[in-house]
Amino acid sequence: MEVFKFGGASVKDANAIKNLSQIIKKNSETPLLVVVSAMGKITNKLEDLTKAYLKNEPTEPIFEEIKDYHFQIINELFTDKNHQIFNEIANTFVEIDWILEESPIDNPNYIYDQIVSMGEIISTKIISAFLQYENMNAVWVDARNYIQTDNNYQEGNVNWEKTAQEIMKNLPQLIAKKIVITQGFIGNTSENFTTTLGREGSDYSAAIFASCLNANALTIWKDVPGVLNADPKWFDETEKIDYLSYYDAIELAYYGATVIHPKTIKPLQNKNIPLYVRSFINPTEKGTKIGNIKNETPTPCFIFKVNQTLISILPKDFSFIIEENLSTIFNVFHQHKVKINTMLNSALSFSVSVDGENDVKIQKLIDALSKSYIVKYNQNLELVTIRYYNQQTINRVTENKTVLLEVKSRHTCQIVMKNKN
Ligand code: ASP
Ligand code: MG
Repeated sequence: MEVFKFGGASVKDANAIKNLSQIIKKNSETPLLVVVSAMGKITNKLEDLTKAYLKNEPTEPIFEEIKDYHFQIINELFTDKNHQIFNEIANTFVEIDWILEESPIDNPNYIYDQIVSMGEIISTKIISAFLQYENMNAVWVDARNYIQTDNNYQEGNVNWEKTAQEIMKNLPQLIAKKIVITQGFIGNTSENFTTTLGREGSDYSAAIFASCLNANALTIWKDVPGVLNADPKWFDETEKIDYLSYYDAIELAYYGATVIHPKTIKPLQNKNIPLYVRSFINPTEKGTKIGNIKNETPTPCFIFKVNQTLISILPKDFSFIIEENLSTIFNVFHQHKVKINTMLNSALSFSVSVDGENDVKIQKLIDALSKSYIVKYNQNLELVTIRYYNQQTINRVTENKTVLLEVKSRHTCQIVMKNKN
């Protein structure tokens, strides 16, 4: 059996859903579990709706927009206007109505999960009904019966043991008989409340299902041909990577490549399940295979980040002993929830680069550090991370740039830089 995952872009309108149904039809010989995200940018809209509700602002306009968007898609997909899906989706929206009618007294993170999770519930109901409409043997399954989490709303931590137990109870038998359609991104607490796993968490859901089911493979269908060696948003010439090791995939995600959710790889690696990243636009193309792969000539990969701040921390009394100060410094970063991207120490200073500029979080961090140290900082910077770098790739990215910090390990080079003026 295999697991397929389709993200928001692959189900953003009626044509996209028809395309998805073709992909599933072509693979119908393989027993399949299909994990689907909310349609298009609906999660953002549901976040807006939640914010409006929590601030006691009018929710009507956003909610209407969300409803219209989905009904337009259903209208295009189902020529039979008496199809039960019209009622089913209307009833699901009533569940959101019930939440919006009460005044917001509960924990905001809890409320967020109850509202935002609906995007996935609705998309999967529509897709499963459409596959049945196209005479495919599909069945809708509620992921909350399987993915068990704690009550850390908005970022639920998965209880792997309970989840595996629930999945093994009946899901393999069901997948053997039918194409099972379920939601990404959502889970359930032991008290039966809905949780979400963090933004972009559907890849992670798919990996959880694949791992617990001991699937033969997980395929993530995307709007790119596979994993590219750089983001086309920043680089003109990109290359598709045919094979990538789990290890490199984890490293790339860690440094900020956004193609796969960082939590996705480890569960697959533990069970040695290959991950394919393929294009739903050109579904016959091979894409990228991530697995237990040894690559003798790896392609250099570039991860580019803007809005970086470089912070240099110096002693007030010239007696900087890095070992004595490091834990204090790291603690301040930890308390302010600021993640360090790069770091370098010298005899008299310790420098780090972090995401963000001019934001309150960074300012508070700098204020806290300034109590014990001299703190200098520099904003408006770029960070480029090169995996499998050589001098040529470094030259390529630093052309017309002033380099402020460069940190190298055997395979990775990180450069904090700014435009030459
Ligand atoms: N729909 C959720 C989001 O947009 C989860 C996902 O797409 O992976 O964050
Ligand atoms: Mg998404």
